[in-house]
Amino acid sequence: MEGVETKATPNFIRTIVADDVKSGKNGGKVLTRFPPEPNGYLHIGHAKSICLNFGLAAEFGGLCNFRFDDTNPGKEEIEYVDSIMNDVRWLGFDWQDRLYHASDYFDRLYEWARDLIKSGKAYVDSLTAEQIREYRGTLTQPGKESPYRNRTVSENLDLFSRMRAGEFSDGQCVLRAKIDMASPNLNLRDPVMYRIRHLPHWKTGDKWCIYPMYDYAHGQSDALEGITHSICTMEYEDHRALYDWYLDNLDVPSRPRQIEFARLNLAYTVMSKRKLLQLVQERYVAGWDDPRMPTLAGMRRRGYPPEAIRNFCERIGVGKRESLVDYGLLEYSVREVLNVKAHRVMAVLRPLKVVIENYPEDRDDQLEAINNPEDPLAGVRKVPFSKVIYIERDDFMENPPKQFFRLSPGREVRLRYAFFITCVDVVKNENGEVTELRCVYDPATRGGDSPDGRKVKATLHWVSAAHALDGQVRLYDTLLNRPDASDEEGGSTFKDFINPGSLEVVEEAKLEPALAGAPAGVTYQFERLGYFCVDPDSTPDKLVFNRTVTLRDTWAKVAKAQGVKRE
Ligand code: ATP
Ligand code: MG
Repeated sequence: MEGVETKATPNFIRTIVADDVKSGKNGGKVLTRFPPEPNGYLHIGHAKSICLNFGLAAEFGGLCNFRFDDTNPGKEEIEYVDSIMNDVRWLGFDWQDRLYHASDYFDRLYEWARDLIKSGKAYVDSLTAEQIREYRGTLTQPGKESPYRNRTVSENLDLFSRMRAGEFSDGQCVLRAKIDMASPNLNLRDPVMYRIRHLPHWKTGDKWCIYPMYDYAHGQSDALEGITHSICTMEYEDHRALYDWYLDNLDVPSRPRQIEFARLNLAYTVMSKRKLLQLVQERYVAGWDDPRMPTLAGMRRRGYPPEAIRNFCERIGVGKRESLVDYGLLEYSVREVLNVKAHRVMAVLRPLKVVIENYPEDRDDQLEAINNPEDPLAGVRKVPFSKVIYIERDDFMENPPKQFFRLSPGREVRLRYAFFITCVDVVKNENGEVTELRCVYDPATRGGDSPDGRKVKATLHWVSAAHALDGQVRLYDTLLNRPDASDEEGGSTFKDFINPGSLEVVEEAKLEPALAGAPAGVTYQFERLGYFCVDPDSTPDKLVFNRTVTLRDTWAKVAKAQGVKRE
């Protein structure tokens, strides 16, 4: 991968893997996996896991498998399957021919379940789900054994095969591991291995009506694939004993090790698929790929380069303690890449008409502009100038305060790559609103330099009215108006903290003609305004741009002026 790539930093998982490789464990091999559940789109948290798993494999000369954890047919959809594969590829990773599914192993898992029954380590329980919960006990109280716990092996084998044959309804019985109802670890209190779900599966169709639980499927899937390091998030720490119990009690072909790390939480957004699904279904956003979403599809549409996301994932590091990562760090990583890659153009979001009185009616100048000062190979382009131009409304003040150096009556400023202009008159409508400025230009300043060394304090971007393209520009702010909406106490939910101003649509933008035909997905820097990405909704008649990220200085300044603190 070329470009701005961040160097790998040490972390505890790298150390574990490095030690294992050095000591020759697993024959010195490294095989990791990324195991998404196809019940939603991938988000930036998943990116952390993808980068970690594929990154470790690459670093130690190993491989990373891609495995759909498809044990829950009720929530899984092909749309999610396709989007997940697309997003992992987009992020820059390749599983080659190693695409697996937990469902590939349903037969094997079923046989293994029978083995546990045969050795007296699993039983069919006929308690209801509610009773099972009651019997489980609490952190301070031991559980109670089910009256069905001591069914004979043959009875259990018979019931289990009848579960599979579809003789029972959903919830009528389950298969449980027989471990220890008094274990201080609740996960070991006879965990459910199989439940009945009379639902077709996107991969196995109607073959099964019993489906394995994640805990029962995951470790054995790892073992079947020869995974050496099974990396997951901290909430599985207490499940590790169970992960190991299954591997200890089954005749598995290899012995993976589960290692947990802290999940990524990002300020001002949510990261759980359940909540993201709610945002989509309840139409708080336009879809999973809405540019405000923390999904990879949303970030792609917003214009975040995959390289920036990889760098961000490297920068946040890998630890065991959960924290809330500042959104600014992600934006920093985005700017860093775009600064090097994005072509500069001029666009006026809120146009104010400027007539250059001493500029000939029927003429235009073709002025040379630099495409990217960070990249000499990006070359130059011509920008047309003519008698009527647009500047940004914000760049003019009739009665400027002391700190305002941009255009005002009688003041001279530079138009980027063009000329110095001086404002000589202000035209207003009947409401007293400024509708037009009358200016004069100095032909001797062509290109933006004054031959007599005359100084101006501001350089403005502009677009020639006669040549301008019309555009819609979508400006985004954070999805939530507070950094952390995870604590839903007092009856409030994260939805109470949705930022009503997260999308502002600017309809009347005027764009430099070089943007004609700009294809969806390409990101530009609009000079002085930020980075903007062409949206798939864009048409030749009306270009549509998403603001990817503002320019840092503007951000810092605006935030300071508004007294806004963004960590
Ligand atoms: P969610 O809570 O969003 O539903 P999940 O864990 O149920 O996430 P999976 O599809 O099972 O989603 O996740 C696939 C992999 O990505 C798992 O290994 C999981 O640990 C990891 N992962 C999920 N969310 C995060 C996160 N926020 N940070 C880091 N890794 C994550
Ligand atoms: Mg999961």
